[in-house]
Amino acid sequence: MRKTTPTHGFTVAHDVPVPEPGAGEVLVAVTRAGVCGTDKGIYEWAPWTADHVTLGTTVGHEFVGRVAAVGEAVTRVREGQRVSGEGHLACGACQPCRTGRGHVCSRVRVLGAGVDGCFAEYVLLPEANVWPVHDAVSDDIAAILDPIGNAMHTVMTADVAGRTVLVTGAGVIGAIAIAIARAAGAGTIIATDLSARRLDLALEMGADHALQGEDPEWPEQARRLTGGAGPDVLLEMSGSPTAIRQGLRSLGSGGTAALLGVPTQPVELDLLNDVVFKGATVHGVFGRRMFETWYQVENMLVGGRLRLDPVISHRIAIQDYDRAFGLMSSDEAMKIVLVVD
Ligand SMILES: [Zn+2]
Ligand SMILES: [Zn+2]
Repeated sequence: MRKTTPTHGFTVAHDVPVPEPGAGEVLVAVTRAGVCGTDKGIYEWAPWTADHVTLGTTVGHEFVGRVAAVGEAVTRVREGQRVSGEGHLACGACQPCRTGRGHVCSRVRVLGAGVDGCFAEYVLLPEANVWPVHDAVSDDIAAILDPIGNAMHTVMTADVAGRTVLVTGAGVIGAIAIAIARAAGAGTIIATDLSARRLDLALEMGADHALQGEDPEWPEQARRLTGGAGPDVLLEMSGSPTAIRQGLRSLGSGGTAALLGVPTQPVELDLLNDVVFKGATVHGVFGRRMFETWYQVENMLVGGRLRLDPVISHRIAIQDYDRAFGLMSSDEAMKIVLVVD
């Protein structure tokens, strides 16, 4: 399905010829695809999309499938292999790329936004972006390695072992981050969210306490639950200006904040009291490290330390994508996986 007009919805293209992999490219027959908040933004043509999405592009960036064909000069990947892939196509030549930070490539092209993505029977990827999936990882989980990577990158940025952790926003990535933080040796984990359903999920994923984000007293409660000191680590997953302010307010002195949530407007902060005087460290987190994060995810999944199935709430045939995007606005939907056949 494609984004063809700057309006609500997608268009299904019929009789599209199967793409031919060029030199260094791999053709993947998609079997499952994850639906992401980004895709919902593109579906609804949210204000940020006009600058980031090329009309006519096939959407979707989270997937698993089988290699259907490989182009010339492909050496590592073979036909029939079960694979997922990194959706950020880094240029390999800019300063960030050449210094090992391809995840913030200044000339990045993005699958499902500027490059044809995976809400289709086939997707083409450069060989370097293909990630062979370990046999121990299910198709459902393999389809969502991308957001699992976002969560992993955030948790690893903040160094949670032996420290108390506050997670603001227990949506899909927040919930996964809770499980990762738990597996990575975090102490007390506190989650906040506005939705009771998500707070339940946070507890299921390993949080010790789930606080209702609408309660103005929650930052004080978070402080009490961490012996009065405030959490050592803030993992900000919501993008909500209020949650960001409250999270930084409750962060303990000398604490670390990793911000992954995407605010849709500029956010006003009390930098002096909540960052400077606290000696806090604040990290912006974007994407996943290529490919360090992917190895970390695989190592935790294969070791059985992460049980992430509870975040998948629906499996829906790709033809019913309108239903999937409708469901995303409801409280019952967490991660929706589209089944392609
Ligand atoms: Zn995504
Ligand atoms: Zn680059």
